[in-house]
Amino acid sequence: MFELPELINLSKQINDTLVGKKITRGELGNSPHKFVWYNLDHADFAKLIRGKTVKPSYVKGRWLFIPVDPGYILVLGEFGGKLTYLPDHEKPEKYHLWIEFENLTSMSLVIQMWGVIELYKKGKELERQHIKNMRPDPLHKDFTEKYFLKIIDSLIAEGKRSVKGLLTQDQILPGIGNSMAQEIMFIARLHPKRELKDLKKSERVRLFETINQTIHNAIQLGGRQDEVDFFNQPGQYKRLMNSRVVGKPCSVCGAPIQKMQYLGGTCVYCPICQKL
Ligand SMILES: [Zn+2]
Repeated sequence: MFELPELINLSKQINDTLVGKKITRGELGNSPHKFVWYNLDHADFAKLIRGKTVKPSYVKGRWLFIPVDPGYILVLGEFGGKLTYLPDHEKPEKYHLWIEFENLTSMSLVIQMWGVIELYKKGKELERQHIKNMRPDPLHKDFTEKYFLKIIDSLIAEGKRSVKGLLTQDQILPGIGNSMAQEIMFIARLHPKRELKDLKKSERVRLFETINQTIHNAIQLGGRQDEVDFFNQPGQYKRLMNSRVVGKPCSVCGAPIQKMQYLGGTCVYCPICQKL
Protein backbone atom coordinates (compact mmCIF):
# COMPACT_ATOMS: atom_id res chain seq x y z
CA MET A 1 0.00 0.00 0.00
CA PHE A 2 1.26 3.45 -0.83
CA GLU A 3 2.06 5.75 2.06
CA LEU A 4 2.93 9.43 2.04
CA PRO A 5 6.51 9.10 0.65
CA GLU A 6 5.50 7.01 -2.36
CA LEU A 7 2.52 9.23 -3.13
CA ILE A 8 4.62 12.40 -2.99
CA ASN A 9 7.06 10.80 -5.39
CA LEU A 10 4.30 9.64 -7.75
CA SER A 11 2.74 13.10 -7.67
CA LYS A 12 6.05 14.76 -8.61
CA GLN A 13 6.58 12.30 -11.44
CA ILE A 14 3.04 12.81 -12.73
CA ASN A 15 3.61 16.56 -12.66
CA ASP A 16 6.87 16.21 -14.60
CA THR A 17 5.29 13.90 -17.17
CA LEU A 18 1.60 14.58 -17.65
CA VAL A 19 0.76 18.20 -16.84
CA GLY A 20 -0.76 19.93 -19.87
CA LYS A 21 -1.53 16.69 -21.65
CA LYS A 22 -4.98 16.26 -23.10
CA ILE A 23 -6.88 13.07 -22.36
CA THR A 24 -8.22 11.28 -25.42
CA ARG A 25 -9.60 8.21 -23.67
CA GLY A 26 -10.15 7.04 -20.12
CA GLU A 27 -11.46 3.70 -19.02
CA LEU A 28 -12.24 2.11 -15.70
CA GLY A 29 -11.19 -1.46 -14.98
CA ASN A 30 -11.54 -4.43 -17.22
CA SER A 31 -10.30 -6.68 -14.44
CA PRO A 32 -12.89 -7.42 -11.75
CA HIS A 33 -11.72 -6.65 -8.24
CA LYS A 34 -13.85 -6.79 -5.13
CA PHE A 35 -12.01 -4.03 -3.31
CA VAL A 36 -11.75 -1.31 -5.90
CA TRP A 37 -14.24 1.43 -5.23
CA TYR A 38 -15.55 3.55 -8.10
CA ASN A 39 -18.06 6.39 -7.86
CA LEU A 40 -19.08 6.32 -11.53
CA ASP A 41 -20.05 3.63 -13.96
CA HIS A 42 -17.75 2.90 -16.88
CA ALA A 43 -19.71 4.84 -19.50
CA ASP A 44 -20.07 7.99 -17.40
CA PHE A 45 -16.41 7.96 -16.48
CA ALA A 46 -15.34 7.59 -20.13
CA LYS A 47 -17.61 10.44 -21.19
CA LEU A 48 -16.50 12.83 -18.42
CA ILE A 49 -12.74 12.27 -18.62
CA ARG A 50 -12.45 12.59 -22.40
CA GLY A 51 -11.01 15.89 -23.65
CA LYS A 52 -9.82 17.06 -20.22
CA THR A 53 -6.31 18.42 -19.60
CA VAL A 54 -4.11 17.27 -16.72
CA LYS A 55 -3.21 19.93 -14.13
CA PRO A 56 -0.61 19.64 -11.33
CA SER A 57 -1.42 16.88 -8.86
CA TYR A 58 -1.05 17.00 -5.09
CA VAL A 59 -1.22 14.71 -2.07
CA LYS A 60 -3.02 14.78 1.24
CA GLY A 61 -2.35 11.83 3.53
CA ARG A 62 -2.85 8.68 1.51
CA TRP A 63 -4.84 10.43 -1.21
CA LEU A 64 -3.58 11.58 -4.61
CA PHE A 65 -5.53 14.32 -6.36
CA ILE A 66 -5.14 14.89 -10.10
CA PRO A 67 -7.21 17.86 -11.32
CA VAL A 68 -8.37 17.56 -14.94
CA ASP A 69 -9.59 20.78 -16.48
CA PRO A 70 -12.12 22.01 -17.00
CA GLY A 71 -13.83 21.36 -13.74
CA TYR A 72 -13.03 17.81 -12.58
CA ILE A 73 -10.63 16.00 -10.30
CA LEU A 74 -9.44 12.41 -10.35
CA VAL A 75 -9.05 11.02 -6.83
CA LEU A 76 -6.93 7.95 -6.09
CA GLY A 77 -7.05 7.03 -2.44
CA GLU A 78 -5.86 4.55 0.17
CA PHE A 79 -4.49 2.30 -2.53
CA GLY A 80 -1.66 -0.02 -3.37
CA GLY A 81 -0.44 -1.52 -6.61
CA LYS A 82 1.14 -0.04 -9.69
CA LEU A 83 0.48 3.40 -11.08
CA THR A 84 2.51 3.35 -14.26
CA TYR A 85 3.41 5.64 -17.13
CA LEU A 86 3.32 3.93 -20.51
CA PRO A 87 5.46 5.95 -22.95
CA ASP A 88 4.67 3.87 -25.99
CA HIS A 89 1.36 3.30 -27.63
CA GLU A 90 0.30 0.33 -25.59
CA LYS A 91 -2.76 -0.75 -23.70
CA PRO A 92 -2.17 -3.06 -20.75
CA GLU A 93 -4.01 -6.36 -20.61
CA LYS A 94 -5.37 -5.81 -17.13
CA TYR A 95 -6.07 -2.52 -15.42
CA HIS A 96 -8.44 -0.82 -13.01
CA LEU A 97 -7.85 2.55 -14.64
CA TRP A 98 -6.32 3.41 -17.98
CA ILE A 99 -5.99 6.93 -19.35
CA GLU A 100 -4.58 7.72 -22.80
CA PHE A 101 -3.24 11.09 -23.91
CA GLU A 102 -3.19 12.75 -27.31
CA ASN A 103 0.41 11.79 -28.07
CA LEU A 104 -0.58 8.15 -27.44
CA THR A 105 1.27 7.88 -24.17
CA SER A 106 -0.87 6.60 -21.32
CA MET A 107 -1.13 5.86 -17.62
CA SER A 108 -2.46 2.71 -16.01
CA LEU A 109 -3.37 1.76 -12.48
CA VAL A 110 -3.53 -1.83 -11.32
CA ILE A 111 -4.76 -2.07 -7.75
CA GLN A 112 -3.39 -4.57 -5.27
CA MET A 113 -5.18 -5.11 -1.97
CA TRP A 114 -7.69 -2.28 -2.29
CA GLY A 115 -8.15 1.28 -3.44
CA VAL A 116 -10.44 4.13 -4.45
CA ILE A 117 -10.67 5.42 -8.04
CA GLU A 118 -13.13 8.29 -8.27
CA LEU A 119 -13.85 11.30 -10.44
CA TYR A 120 -15.54 14.35 -8.97
CA LYS A 121 -16.70 17.73 -10.06
CA LYS A 122 -13.98 19.90 -8.54
CA GLY A 123 -14.80 20.75 -4.94
CA LYS A 124 -17.17 17.81 -4.47
CA GLU A 125 -14.28 15.54 -3.47
CA LEU A 126 -13.96 17.60 -0.28
CA GLU A 127 -17.29 16.24 0.88
CA ARG A 128 -16.13 12.65 0.61
CA GLN A 129 -15.70 10.56 3.73
CA HIS A 130 -12.00 10.35 4.75
CA ILE A 131 -11.18 13.54 2.78
CA LYS A 132 -13.67 15.78 4.55
CA ASN A 133 -12.13 17.13 7.77
CA MET A 134 -8.84 15.33 7.16
CA ARG A 135 -6.29 16.31 9.77
CA PRO A 136 -2.95 17.79 8.67
CA ASP A 137 -0.56 15.15 7.40
CA PRO A 138 3.13 15.29 8.44
CA LEU A 139 3.99 17.52 5.45
CA HIS A 140 1.27 20.06 6.18
CA LYS A 141 2.42 23.47 7.43
CA ASP A 142 0.18 23.05 10.49
CA PHE A 143 1.92 19.83 11.50
CA THR A 144 4.06 21.45 14.18
CA GLU A 145 5.47 20.14 17.44
CA LYS A 146 2.87 22.15 19.32
CA TYR A 147 0.06 20.65 17.24
CA PHE A 148 1.47 17.13 17.71
CA LEU A 149 1.75 17.45 21.50
CA LYS A 150 -1.79 18.79 21.62
CA ILE A 151 -3.08 15.81 19.64
CA ILE A 152 -1.42 13.45 22.14
CA ASP A 153 -2.99 15.30 25.06
CA SER A 154 -6.44 15.16 23.51
CA LEU A 155 -6.10 11.44 22.75
CA ILE A 156 -5.05 10.75 26.35
CA ALA A 157 -8.11 12.68 27.54
CA GLU A 158 -10.31 10.48 25.33
CA GLY A 159 -8.95 7.26 26.86
CA LYS A 160 -6.56 4.46 26.10
CA ARG A 161 -4.38 4.84 23.01
CA SER A 162 -1.01 3.32 22.17
CA VAL A 163 1.87 4.59 20.05
CA LYS A 164 0.88 2.34 17.14
CA GLY A 165 -2.71 3.49 17.58
CA LEU A 166 -1.61 7.10 17.27
CA LEU A 167 0.41 6.32 14.14
CA THR A 168 -2.02 4.10 12.25
CA GLN A 169 -5.58 4.43 13.51
CA ASP A 170 -8.43 6.73 12.53
CA GLN A 171 -6.30 8.88 10.20
CA ILE A 172 -4.98 10.78 13.21
CA LEU A 173 -1.72 11.13 11.28
CA PRO A 174 -2.85 10.82 7.65
CA GLY A 175 -0.34 9.30 5.25
CA ILE A 176 1.33 6.94 7.70
CA GLY A 177 0.50 3.26 7.38
CA ASN A 178 1.77 0.07 8.92
CA SER A 179 5.11 0.13 7.09
CA MET A 180 6.26 3.64 7.95
CA ALA A 181 4.83 3.25 11.46
CA GLN A 182 7.15 0.29 12.14
CA GLU A 183 10.14 2.31 10.94
CA ILE A 184 9.18 5.30 13.05
CA MET A 185 8.60 3.27 16.23
CA PHE A 186 11.94 1.48 15.85
CA ILE A 187 13.91 4.66 15.17
CA ALA A 188 12.14 6.48 18.03
CA ARG A 189 12.77 3.43 20.29
CA LEU A 190 9.11 3.13 21.30
CA HIS A 191 7.23 -0.13 21.77
CA PRO A 192 4.06 -0.28 19.62
CA LYS A 193 1.94 -0.98 22.71
CA ARG A 194 3.37 1.84 24.85
CA GLU A 195 0.47 3.90 26.06
CA LEU A 196 0.52 7.57 25.14
CA LYS A 197 -0.15 8.59 28.73
CA ASP A 198 3.07 6.86 29.82
CA LEU A 199 5.27 8.73 27.33
CA LYS A 200 7.58 11.31 28.82
CA LYS A 201 7.65 14.76 27.24
CA SER A 202 11.07 13.97 25.74
CA GLU A 203 9.68 10.77 24.16
CA ARG A 204 6.76 12.65 22.66
CA VAL A 205 9.11 15.21 21.13
CA ARG A 206 11.41 12.45 19.90
CA LEU A 207 8.42 10.74 18.25
CA PHE A 208 7.47 13.99 16.50
CA GLU A 209 11.01 14.52 15.25
CA THR A 210 11.32 10.91 14.13
CA ILE A 211 8.07 11.11 12.13
CA ASN A 212 9.37 14.17 10.29
CA GLN A 213 12.85 12.79 9.69
CA THR A 214 11.71 9.36 8.59
CA ILE A 215 9.04 10.65 6.20
CA HIS A 216 11.42 13.19 4.67
CA ASN A 217 14.18 10.61 4.38
CA ALA A 218 11.85 8.20 2.58
CA ILE A 219 10.70 10.98 0.24
CA GLN A 220 14.32 11.88 -0.59
CA LEU A 221 14.89 8.25 -1.49
CA GLY A 222 11.83 8.03 -3.72
CA GLY A 223 9.76 5.87 -1.38
CA ARG A 224 10.15 2.39 -0.03
CA GLN A 225 12.13 -0.26 -1.86
CA ASP A 226 9.17 -2.65 -1.97
CA GLU A 227 7.03 -0.25 -4.03
CA VAL A 228 7.58 0.92 -7.60
CA ASP A 229 7.25 4.44 -8.95
CA PHE A 230 5.55 5.91 -12.03
CA PHE A 231 8.37 4.57 -14.23
CA ASN A 232 8.22 1.10 -12.70
CA GLN A 233 11.42 1.66 -10.67
CA PRO A 234 11.65 0.59 -7.02
CA GLY A 235 12.19 3.25 -4.35
CA GLN A 236 15.53 3.43 -2.54
CA TYR A 237 14.28 3.60 1.04
CA LYS A 238 15.34 0.29 2.58
CA ARG A 239 13.04 -0.69 5.42
CA LEU A 240 14.72 -1.50 8.71
CA MET A 241 11.69 -3.37 10.00
CA ASN A 242 9.94 -5.91 7.81
CA SER A 243 9.14 -9.61 7.87
CA ARG A 244 12.58 -10.51 6.45
CA VAL A 245 14.42 -9.28 9.55
CA VAL A 246 12.30 -11.28 12.04
CA GLY A 247 14.60 -13.54 14.09
CA LYS A 248 17.73 -11.76 12.84
CA PRO A 249 19.87 -9.58 15.12
CA CYS A 250 18.78 -5.98 15.65
CA SER A 251 21.08 -3.56 13.79
CA VAL A 252 21.43 -1.49 16.99
CA CYS A 253 21.59 -3.94 19.93
CA GLY A 254 21.92 -7.40 18.37
CA ALA A 255 18.83 -8.90 20.05
CA PRO A 256 16.62 -11.06 17.80
CA ILE A 257 13.90 -8.99 16.11
CA GLN A 258 10.38 -10.13 17.00
CA LYS A 259 6.95 -9.83 15.47
CA MET A 260 3.43 -9.73 16.83
CA GLN A 261 -0.09 -9.19 15.60
CA TYR A 262 -1.37 -5.92 16.93
CA LEU A 263 -4.03 -3.44 15.80
CA GLY A 264 -4.88 -5.00 12.48
CA GLY A 265 -1.49 -5.99 11.20
CA THR A 266 1.89 -7.51 11.84
CA CYS A 267 4.24 -5.43 13.88
CA VAL A 268 7.98 -6.08 13.71
CA TYR A 269 9.98 -4.64 16.59
CA CYS A 270 13.09 -4.99 18.74
CA PRO A 271 12.19 -6.11 22.29
CA ILE A 272 15.31 -4.44 23.71
CA CYS A 273 15.42 -1.12 21.83
CA GLN A 274 11.65 -0.76 22.07
CA LYS A 275 10.87 -1.69 25.66
CA LEU A 276 7.29 -1.78 26.84
ZN1 LIG B 1 17.55 -3.52 19.32
